[in-house]
Parts: sequence; structure tokens; C-alpha cells
Amino acid sequence: MKKYKVAILGAGASGVMCALSTKQKSVALIDSSTKPAKKLLVTGNGRCNLTNTNLNSSFYNTDLEKFFDVFDQNKTLKFFQNIGLETYADEEGRVYPISNFAKSVVDVIENNLKCDLFLGQKIEKIASENGKFVIFTEKEQIEAEKIVVATGGSSAEILNQLKIKHKKFTPSLVALKGADTHDLNGTKLSNVLVSAVCEDGKKKSQMGEVLFKENGLSGIVVFNLSTLFARKSNYCGEIEIDLLPKLTYRQVVEKVKSRKALNVRLDKMFVGMFQNSVANEIFKQAKINTNKPSENLADSEAEKIANSIKSLKFKVDSCYDNFQVLCGGVELCDLTDKLESKQRKGVYVAGEAVDVDGECGGFNLQWAWTSGYIIGKGL
Ligand SMILES: Cc1cc2nc3c(=O)[nH]c(=O)nc-3n(C[C@H](O)[C@H](O)[C@H](O)COP(=O)(O)OP(=O)(O)OC[C@H]3O[C@@H](n4cnc5c(N)ncnc54)[C@H](O)[C@@H]3O)c2cc1C
Repeated sequence: MKKYKVAILGAGASGVMCALSTKQKSVALIDSSTKPAKKLLVTGNGRCNLTNTNLNSSFYNTDLEKFFDVFDQNKTLKFFQNIGLETYADEEGRVYPISNFAKSVVDVIENNLKCDLFLGQKIEKIASENGKFVIFTEKEQIEAEKIVVATGGSSAEILNQLKIKHKKFTPSLVALKGADTHDLNGTKLSNVLVSAVCEDGKKKSQMGEVLFKENGLSGIVVFNLSTLFARKSNYCGEIEIDLLPKLTYRQVVEKVKSRKALNVRLDKMFVGMFQNSVANEIFKQAKINTNKPSENLADSEAEKIANSIKSLKFKVDSCYDNFQVLCGGVELCDLTDKLESKQRKGVYVAGEAVDVDGECGGFNLQWAWTSGYIIGKGL
């Protein structure tokens, strides 16, 4: 049996950051994958959006300021620069490697890892013996005094074996399903205000883009809002879209009325203003018969149309399979400031295994770096 002071379970973003930042010399880093930080290759559409210059807790489900006081986006960038990674930020503050290839991030990490690597080895069991932990992989038995759970969204089994309580892992940053969007399939909306409304009335809104699918809605804003449904209502609720967020309801009513003078068939009334698929949806939701001249539109009908323009509604009841992050995991209240389990001394929990999730834009990787760094320094 190989013996170490520390075993890091999982060589994803948080696990490698922990390994890179610790002063401990006796460290085993274990992963079922054949390459450390391999998952980073698919992040940010292959570019790896590693952090965001506008970092603060408002982008997360919980307050992380005390952790960012220790290791924030600036320290992260400095850390990566010191190991050779050059980066740039786009106009939204999203930081990428200057090469625009996630592989650059993976390569600098791989070049700088000094610990013993146990790759291609799935962790199958963890036992406790004489106050130490024994990790059974497919090929090895590794003993460690302390362990770091950095196995991301697949941590449930390991946490169960360690008898550490945690919230169920469920997809977040995910497209929402169940909406009657067949006629809008492929339509993209920009600069709209999108709101997620839970069955209990809880609401969260964000400006941005929406992409309609055959049977649901996608796009960064929908991803960000999906967290509310994931946490509050098992993905059931309503997405409301304000197509003209800069105008008040009354202004929209006046705008609709003013277009009566175009003197076209009603279904052509929004040509030059909305895409055809969107105009059709507005009429459908407003329950307006479009088989008449625009000048015959009644004031009450203009109000109904304005209502739909300000609040196009889509019911959702589930999520798609491809998600970017899982919510759930060990709650921060069950961890110390050094992210050690209060239930189980010697067990530290990092990254997605903690019940922390952020919006799209580099915030989830930042949490992985921050948590991995704090644990690494505290070992
Ligand atoms: C397609 C996609 C794109 C994304 N893009 C971005 C982005 O651009 N920016 C951003 O901030 N976030 C992004 N994310 C989210 C981000 O990747 C995660 O938040 C982050 O990787 C979490 O880090 P982690 O260390 O907790 O877990 P992970 O990075 O998932 O690492 C966990 C590691 O544990 C290993 N493991 C799990 N179970 C076992 C086991 N039993 N035995 C051995 N090894 C095990 C896995 O192989 C893995 O290497 C993206 C996610 C996805 C899916």
C-alpha cells in the first residue's frame, strides 16, 4: 500500500489547483481520467473561460466573499501567469487563454504538477483505518492522513461512503424543456428581458439572448435562470420574455396602435419589427385572429398584443440532458473556512462537490480555483 499525507480525489479544476498550491510534499492525485484537468478541454466551447474580471458573490447561489478575500480572480490570474499562462478578457470580463485554446490551460497545469499522479484509476471505495483513510482504486490501495473530495458532480457516492451529508446533485446551467415552441424552433432573440417564474411566484430576471429549441428554450440567460428552477421547483415553472424591455406597457400599446396605419393584413403588421415566427407567437398568445386588415384592429386587441409583447409566456417542466454544472453537494455551513468537513475531520471538500454554483461566464471555474487553493494552502 502506498502511503501519503494527502490524497486528492479528482484531478479536475479544483483538484489540480489544490495540488499546485499546497506546500505538502507527500501528495497523491487520483483520477479516473488519463490526463489531469482533461474536462477543461471542453469548457468555454474549447477555449476555457477560466474566470471573470467582474467577480463577486452576486453571480452565485451563496455569499462567497470571505473565500474571494483569500483567492479572487486577480490572484487566480497572477497564479496562472506565474506558471506560464497568458490570458485576455473580453468585453464581458470573461477571461480566456491568449491562445484561445483550452489546451494551453491544461498544458501549463500538467507541466507544473509535482505530486504523484494516479491516472486512469477510478476510486471504488474509501475506508477508514486507525484514523487514516484508505482509497481503493481499480489498481491501487493508497493510504492518506487527509483527503480532498474534488470529484465534482460525481461526488455523491464518495460522500456517502464517508457519511458526509450533502444535498442531492441536480443539473444547473441547463436548457429548459417542455415548452410549446415547435413553431419558434431555431429562432434567436437578442436584448430581451427573460424572467423565470417558479410555481410559488419566486422570480429572477436577466437581459440577454434566448434560443428556441423544438421543445424548449436555451441560451446563456436561460442557463443562468435554470438555477432557480433547479433549486426551487424541479424545473417546473414559466419563462416570461419581455420583447421590448426598454418600453413601458403603455408605450408598447401606442406602438402597436401606430402600426395599424401600415394598412397591411394583420399578420404582416410586425414585418420590420419582429421576426415572422415571433410575430406569429405574439398573435397566438394574444388569441388574435389575423385574417383582417391592420386598420380593423380594436383597441382592446392592441392591449392584448402589447401584453404578449411585454410578457411572452412558455411553461417548462423539465431540463435537457446537457448541463454545465450541478447544484447540490456539501453545504458551506457544514464546512470550516478552510473547507474541512465539520462532520469528518481530515476530509476537505472542493469545487462542484460543494453546494456552490455560479452563472455562465467563468464563475464556476473560479469557485473551483478558489476552493482548491484555499484547501491546498490549509493542508
Ligand atoms: C461543457 C461544459 C463547459 C463548461 N464551461 C465552463 C467555462 O467555460 N467556465 C466555467 O467557469 N465553468 C465551465 N464549466 C463548469 C466547470 O467545468 C466546472 O464547474 C468545474 O470543472 C468543476 O470543477 P471540479 O474540480 O469541482 O470538478 P471537475 O472539473 O468535474 O473534476 C472532477 C474530477 O474528478 C474525477 N472523478 C470523478 N469521480 C471519480 C472517481 N470515482 N474516481 C476517480 N476520479 C473521479 C473526474 O474524472 C474529474 O476529472 C463547464 C462545464 C461543462 C460540462
